[in-house]
Amino acid sequence: MNILLIGSGGREHALAWRLAQSPLCTRLFTAPGNPGTARHGTNRPDLKVTDHAAVAAFCAAESIGLVVVGPEAPLVAGLVDDLKAAGIRAFGPTRDAARLEGSKGFTKDLCAACNIPTAAFARFTELEPALAYVRQQGAPIVVKADGLAAGKGVTVAETVDQAEDALTGLFAEPGAEVVVEECLFGEEASFFALCDGTRAISLGTAQDHKRVFDGDRGPNTGGMGAYSPARVVTPEIEARVMAEIIAPTLAGMRARGCPFTGILYAGLMLTADGPKLIEYNTRFGDPEAQVLMPRLASDLVPALLSACEGDLSGVSLEFDPHRAALTVVMAAAGYPGAVVRGSVIRGVDAAEGDGVHVFQAGTRAEDGQLLADGGRVLAVTAVGDSVTDAKARAYAAVARIDWPEGFCRRDIGFRAVAREAE
Ligand code: ATP
Repeated sequence: MNILLIGSGGREHALAWRLAQSPLCTRLFTAPGNPGTARHGTNRPDLKVTDHAAVAAFCAAESIGLVVVGPEAPLVAGLVDDLKAAGIRAFGPTRDAARLEGSKGFTKDLCAACNIPTAAFARFTELEPALAYVRQQGAPIVVKADGLAAGKGVTVAETVDQAEDALTGLFAEPGAEVVVEECLFGEEASFFALCDGTRAISLGTAQDHKRVFDGDRGPNTGGMGAYSPARVVTPEIEARVMAEIIAPTLAGMRARGCPFTGILYAGLMLTADGPKLIEYNTRFGDPEAQVLMPRLASDLVPALLSACEGDLSGVSLEFDPHRAALTVVMAAAGYPGAVVRGSVIRGVDAAEGDGVHVFQAGTRAEDGQLLADGGRVLAVTAVGDSVTDAKARAYAAVARIDWPEGFCRRDIGFRAVAREAE
């Protein structure tokens, strides 16, 4: 079967690597793709993924049997709806189901209606009542823009003043919709479930590192590194997440006429009262896919096909329980602010092998050289017998990459390493 993968990040390189290994995959196309995905198939940078009719025409011309959508924007734009309408099998949620990621207000209302544990909240479309609410609730308190804001629409306010400033900023935009919620305390972890509309099976756990500098300091980023599994999510907690969060979400979505098919990525706070949902994403994380894919022992393609057919009942996904994976993101100097593109990266091939994968994100190939072409550029990933072992192997691989214009955090995995040392 021919497969079309949509996207161009490190997540898509990891998915391309996995998908291309399947005996079911005849040809893999990635649109637009990057030099990393080109190693596992054919890139189609010419295919405009925002032009859904063009994507459908491409699928028909190339006999595509499965479309896998990596990033959130095409899901929220309804690419899966339009492909399905054209008779093409596409993995991922419809536009209505992708509201679980695209609208925080939608998700909070669903949580309230289905008794899903989450922070107490209120929704606002006007500044004054929102200000009154935060004054009444007091700090700390969390202020969020409703729609997709790539992590930039959230303020965890330590003081009422900060919360008021955040609200004033958000309501400066006409038509703003805002969620104000209780501040939760605990350790954050991510849980991934493959869903067929009715059932869910676990794809494992991970923890990421959002801040740009060591010790979780500095501005938020798309993610500077991750590891899997997150052992803080014990089998008991995982069972609670499935029963108290994922299962009622799937039932609630079905009841609303928008069953959820795809990857449900739950951002969790492990509070003293048990796991609570912070947010949903409706696709693999980046860089979490880079640590989930190397641990996956089963073929991903039949599982994705079964999910598309709405029947995961016969599917089980095996993860190597004794192996951990850790990824270190190498970013261009200046990230998450403005970066200079075009610096030369050497040593990627030398860094790979023996359980090390260098997944590429913002890269460009030119005249036989690999050039940096974005903020997050490489995700240097290693598997090991523990997170501690995977970390040592990942940083040894980072040391083999010759890219003076890049930088990375030096402490990815610190929580798990401390836990493993106990
Ligand atoms: P991203 O997709 O980049 O994670 P987002 O814009 O979807 O971000 P959230 O995940 O909802 O936003 O929040 C971003 C971060 O803010 C969380 O990872 C968490 O650290 C913090 N946060 C969000 N909500 C709460 C809360 N209720 N209590 C404490 N911290 C919170």
